[in-house]
Amino acid sequence: MAVMSCPHCGKELYDGLLECPHCFGPISQNVELAIDEIVAERNRKEKKALFLDLLRSSR
Ligand SMILES: [Zn+2]
Repeated sequence: MAVMSCPHCGKELYDGLLECPHCFGPISQNVELAIDEIVAERNRKEKKALFLDLLRSSR
């Protein structure tokens, strides 16, 4: 069974659910797009964290 993340709260969901059991948000058919957005957001945060680490280590 595939596991995905809720586009609303980010918790793990099992494939085929119509709404999130955690936040009761509706799971749209475009959930893959929403997950792409979440992944992109996480990547941005990780890059920012990496950048901050670089700033700290350069001192
Ligand atoms: Zn949720």
